[in-house]
Amino acid sequence: MNEKREFIRKDVLDRFLRYVAVDTTADEANEHSPSSPGQKELALILEKELKELGLTQVECDSSGYVYGTLPASEGVSSPALTFCAHMDTSPSEPGHDVRPCLHENYGGGEISYADDPGLRLTPHDSPEMDEYQGDTIITASGKTLLGADDKAGIAEIMTALACFQKDQTMTHPELRIVFTPDEEIGRGTDKIDIKRLGQYGYTMDGSRAGEIEDECFDAWKAEFIFTGSNVHPGFAKGKMLNAAEIAARFISQIPEDETPAHTEKREGFFHLTGFSGEENTARFAYIIRDFEEDENRGRIAYLTQLKETFEIRYPGLDIEMTTTHQYQNMLRILEQHPRVTELAVRAVQNTGLTPIKTAIRGGTDGARLCYKGVPTPNLFAGGHLFHSKREWIALGAMSKAVETVIELSRLWSEEPKNG
Ligand SMILES: [Zn+2]
Repeated sequence: MNEKREFIRKDVLDRFLRYVAVDTTADEANEHSPSSPGQKELALILEKELKELGLTQVECDSSGYVYGTLPASEGVSSPALTFCAHMDTSPSEPGHDVRPCLHENYGGGEISYADDPGLRLTPHDSPEMDEYQGDTIITASGKTLLGADDKAGIAEIMTALACFQKDQTMTHPELRIVFTPDEEIGRGTDKIDIKRLGQYGYTMDGSRAGEIEDECFDAWKAEFIFTGSNVHPGFAKGKMLNAAEIAARFISQIPEDETPAHTEKREGFFHLTGFSGEENTARFAYIIRDFEEDENRGRIAYLTQLKETFEIRYPGLDIEMTTTHQYQNMLRILEQHPRVTELAVRAVQNTGLTPIKTAIRGGTDGARLCYKGVPTPNLFAGGHLFHSKREWIALGAMSKAVETVIELSRLWSEEPKNG
């Protein structure tokens, strides 16, 4: 192992262990940014470390976003690049008192957890484990998530910056780093200062080593309020409009084969996210997802038509339907800037990995950045089984992600001024 590789492995591991020790669980019930005090705590640590790494214009702003700029190498005038990762962790599992466990020289087979003897991580559930025999696998202790999503991404970007500080002969364009709060609750880019970002960007928030995600869902939300009218059930004939019951009939008209439990790959769906109701009022909501916006517009049209049919069938019933376009497929933007993905593919290849181009059945901060004017695909951070107590990451995958950031910076430094 050469000296640079050794430095990367040690540095990225040290940083990762430091960052996962801070509880940064996002809190949907809190409207402030960041939504939890631990995120601010981590933001201040990162602010200090960015300064130590020689970055300029370092700031943790009042909304908890951390920015920093690494000036371009001498003679490099290619467009400024952003690397982005998020500081919060998913509220779906506990994120306090994370006790990382290092399974050094992993010999294959299953891994057990100190704090939960019943829990197992097996290559059957996570076949990628087999690729890391002989490497170090990091898990939590069984009581919490690990937080590799996305503290691995933060650690990888930081270690790449540490490499640039150590070896000034490694070339890069101007790098504008940003760490965001509250990505897991959909607010990651709400308060981002787009002027502080580069011309192009990459989020380091993907999973498997080698992955490059340049496509995500087109996403909508449809919310319904049914208002009926209640009458004593003994005397209700021809009078009662039971909002909850009629809403249930409405919901039964959604095709079952177009729900998450029956769809995969490029198939879209309607997903019922909540229902509450009684005779007078019923409320429910759908999220609607597809890679093609036209398909989603078709789903919205179907819901609108269904609403009109129900209004005719139940005179006096009031149906309020509100639709929101939540985010768009980033591919529509990225295909106008093919160089951004092309160079990511080359960088991954040059680190010795096989590039895997995939479409995310979900969203990413990058999707929103794309539509705010910064084309931003998502690159692997190396973790697996995100948002669960079995979340794990291999040190080798983190090292490859660091190398990818470094190589991508080098490739961009050879690009002409306007990309
Ligand atoms: Zn993430």
